[in-house]
Amino acid sequence: MKRRHLIAATALPLLGCVEPQDISGGFSGANYGRGHMLRDSGSWPTPHVLRKTKILIAGGGVAGLAAARALRLQGIDDFALLELEDTAGGNSRGGAVNGIACPLAAHYLPLPSDAAPEVQDLLEELGLRQRVAGRWQYDERHLCHSPQERLFFNGAWQDGLLPLQDVGADTLAQYRKMSVLVEQLRTRSRWTIPCSGRALDALQRELASLTFLAWLDQQGLTDPHLRWYLDYCCRDDYGAGSARVSAWAGIHYFASRHGFNVPGTESQEREAVLTWPEGNAWLTRRMAAPLKERLQTATVVLRIASVKHGVEVDAFNVATQTLERWQARRAIVALPLLAAAQVTENAPDFLRQAAARIAYAPWLVANIQIAAGLTDRAGAAPSWDNVLYGAPGLGYVDAMHQSLQSTPGATVLSYYRALGDMAQGRRLLMNRPWATWRDDILAELALAHPDLASKTRRIDISRYGHAMAIPLPGQVNHAPVPSSARMRFAHSDWAGYSVFEEAFTLGHKAA
Ligand SMILES: Cc1cc2nc3c(=O)[nH]c(=O)nc-3n(C[C@H](O)[C@H](O)[C@H](O)COP(=O)(O)OP(=O)(O)OC[C@H]3O[C@@H](n4cnc5c(N)ncnc54)[C@H](O)[C@@H]3O)c2cc1C
Repeated sequence: MKRRHLIAATALPLLGCVEPQDISGGFSGANYGRGHMLRDSGSWPTPHVLRKTKILIAGGGVAGLAAARALRLQGIDDFALLELEDTAGGNSRGGAVNGIACPLAAHYLPLPSDAAPEVQDLLEELGLRQRVAGRWQYDERHLCHSPQERLFFNGAWQDGLLPLQDVGADTLAQYRKMSVLVEQLRTRSRWTIPCSGRALDALQRELASLTFLAWLDQQGLTDPHLRWYLDYCCRDDYGAGSARVSAWAGIHYFASRHGFNVPGTESQEREAVLTWPEGNAWLTRRMAAPLKERLQTATVVLRIASVKHGVEVDAFNVATQTLERWQARRAIVALPLLAAAQVTENAPDFLRQAAARIAYAPWLVANIQIAAGLTDRAGAAPSWDNVLYGAPGLGYVDAMHQSLQSTPGATVLSYYRALGDMAQGRRLLMNRPWATWRDDILAELALAHPDLASKTRRIDISRYGHAMAIPLPGQVNHAPVPSSARMRFAHSDWAGYSVFEEAFTLGHKAA
């Protein structure tokens, strides 16, 4: 792969009339300056502005927004939600590049099963799910249109992500073996999304104690194509590959959803997913809208303390450049564990220990604006999700895929890369100049789209240093989230891995 990338990189300037240096863009996304204020949180002066509310929610990601919604459903209106960024949504925020909507991170939601009744309820409230003639139906406009996914493999595009073209009988036999093993595990244990708060059985505990790679070794699953695919799935969902995540996580990916599907077997159905040009921001914007002035963005929570009759929360209001003190009866701390442990005064042991255990995967999302449809290699048609075999990145989703345009045209391609396998991943993410990322990403994708560089006009890169918890062996939390007398905690970090359903359910339950 390295050699191929090198060739593509050196070929880059020859590919068209736009030189890489003519491509505009820069870093966008999470605000590091504000996030890093927490490091100094011990040294802030006493605030002069005093505000009161009944319940204070810290953090406006999916978990915080779900908590706010649940309070409203209980008829509690006296609350405030403080969010560091200029808009709520956290990892489920959206943006736009030159007027074309695109996700800044999370971009889809699988149809929730009956194990996620709170999420089902939200989708019903938003009009995405309704009962027709006794059966639940989802709004077709928001279900991912076909073709859903394709893989660039052996110089051509193929349908689906499991490498199939000319792979040979041994590989197919290993695919079938994996499928059988997943099915056996699926019937022996309960696999659900969300999983937080549900105890593991003995078999799952065993799987949670070793890496997925070690389990594959034990099973004799050594085929390189199978291993690439499984590693890709782990990086895509957990931010780190099969050598780091637990076997529980590797199996959960399939067993909690559609199983491990092999062409030629009965269960070949693709997973139905909801998606939008702006990604899951379609959901979070609708969750935030009813909050009105109760949502205060651009506000950095610096300190949360239990006091005699409630909680005291100190926060920096970026708009007024003032420190505010909030007094509330209770707080719902919907912050990443790292931040929760930093801002909670006299943090309880369970919080400090949970924060010390967690390993975070850094992520990069590049929104690439292209002026016209790309020249494609042979094979499967452009899909929503487009992945390159063996590449360092996870491929890209096309923001215009849900539009009804019949031929590919101007669009934004959202490219994803997880850095949870790199020892210095966070440092690389923060220190590498934008232009180096630009050239790297264009070279990687040029293998499948030789004219990409010449059609690219702008690249906006979002960096997430502590994007999501990696479900390492022994790391997934299946106990109910602990609370203290005046504080409840909710964030996907408490589940040990990060998806919408975990964050939403934890937020809902905290409220
Ligand atoms: C690149 C990427 C792609 C993803 N794709 C998907 C996907 O397609 N589907 C899916 O289901 N999930 C996806 N996820 C997982 C995603 O993290 C979850 O779906 C969900 O958005 C997590 O919500 P949360 O509330 O747990 O956390 P967060 O999104 O981390 O929310 C925490 C909030 O707290 C705020 N905050 C932090 N510190 C402070 C402070 N001191 N004061 C005030 N506010 C503060 C943050 O700004 C943030 O808004 C993806 C994640 C990443 C990083």
